[in-house]
Amino acid sequence: MNFYKEDDDLREILKKQLEPSFFVWADRKLNEFGRKCAQEIDQRAIHTDREGQPRLIKFNKKGEDISEVWVNEGYRNTVKETYSEGIAGYPHKEIPGLGYKGNYIYSLAQGYLLSQAEPGFYCPVTLTMATAYLLDHYASKDIKAEYLPHVLSTGEEELYEGATFLTERQGGSDVGANEVKAVALENGSYQLYGEKYFASNAGMCGVAMVLARIEGAPRGTKGLSLFLVPWRQKDGGLNGISIRRLKDKLDVRAVPSAEVEFEGAEAYLIGDQNRGFYYMVEALNLSRVCNAAASVGIMRRAYREARSGDERAI
Ligand SMILES: Cc1cc2nc3c(=O)[nH]c(=O)nc-3n(C[C@H](O)[C@H](O)[C@H](O)COP(=O)(O)OP(=O)(O)OC[C@H]3O[C@@H](n4cnc5c(N)ncnc54)[C@H](O)[C@@H]3O)c2cc1C
Repeated sequence: MNFYKEDDDLREILKKQLEPSFFVWADRKLNEFGRKCAQEIDQRAIHTDREGQPRLIKFNKKGEDISEVWVNEGYRNTVKETYSEGIAGYPHKEIPGLGYKGNYIYSLAQGYLLSQAEPGFYCPVTLTMATAYLLDHYASKDIKAEYLPHVLSTGEEELYEGATFLTERQGGSDVGANEVKAVALENGSYQLYGEKYFASNAGMCGVAMVLARIEGAPRGTKGLSLFLVPWRQKDGGLNGISIRRLKDKLDVRAVPSAEVEFEGAEAYLIGDQNRGFYYMVEALNLSRVCNAAASVGIMRRAYREARSGDERAI
């Protein structure tokens, strides 16, 4: 089985949309990725969904809060293999051997193939894509130099998956009701205090993009700023962050979604103060397109299962 090889329409669309030299390269890469999605990634996804869901390891043997998230080995392999294909990295950086950047069309084609097997994991991928977008567009030179190579990693650097934390208990749809507080430090960075109530990829991400209100900022969305929050400090310890619990979700079960508490988490302002909501909405627009690609992927899989009568669909 190969989700790409058996999809003439996708191939035709890409042939029309991509530069000829890029298409030749992408055609070869997607052929391999489409095979992987239909075979090992699919097998691992079934395991993750049914027996291998993420788990919270809240305390170590000494009773200290370590807030670690366990994911199964197959899932870890899927993470590694998918990012190494440049799904989040190549829209922003040069592809070795080609000498130019990839683009979102190629990335969305990968997302469409991935979602035919593992749509749950495509959620963290889109969070990482949103993080890459925000850092590439709005971060200072220094922050970009320190974090972006990790977020864009295709294997050469330690991978930092991303995350986007908006939702609070009192502010889901109403993001303007957010209360997480940012306290300015003399060195120009900030410390965050408060709680995020539905934080996907908690414990798996290397960095999270977090909306918070700097002390004294206006109420509503116009007083929210965007921060980069490293999950861990340089010594490997948690960065003033703890996970209270993982959500027991009906779906997207491959992703650890958590209630997260900040108690003095070190944070770096991204872009201008009080513009955070606007930046985040831009990034969410990217997630919307990814959601559309994932939905088409899921429909394609349903169609394929209905036609083939594959017993794994039952
Ligand atoms: C699988 C999953 C992953 C998620 N991951 C993240 C994440 O990574 N980061 C993050 O920040 N959030 C995340 N969320 C949270 C998500 O963004 C919120 O659930 C969403 O914003 C809705 O907020 P809420 O759940 O508080 O619902 P509410 O805002 O309480 O809404 C409940 C209902 O009321 C309706 N409603 C709300 N306001 C109005 C109004 N003014 N007029 C009429 N109707 C209204 C809504 O349409 C909805 O039907 C995730 C959620 C899920 C399910």
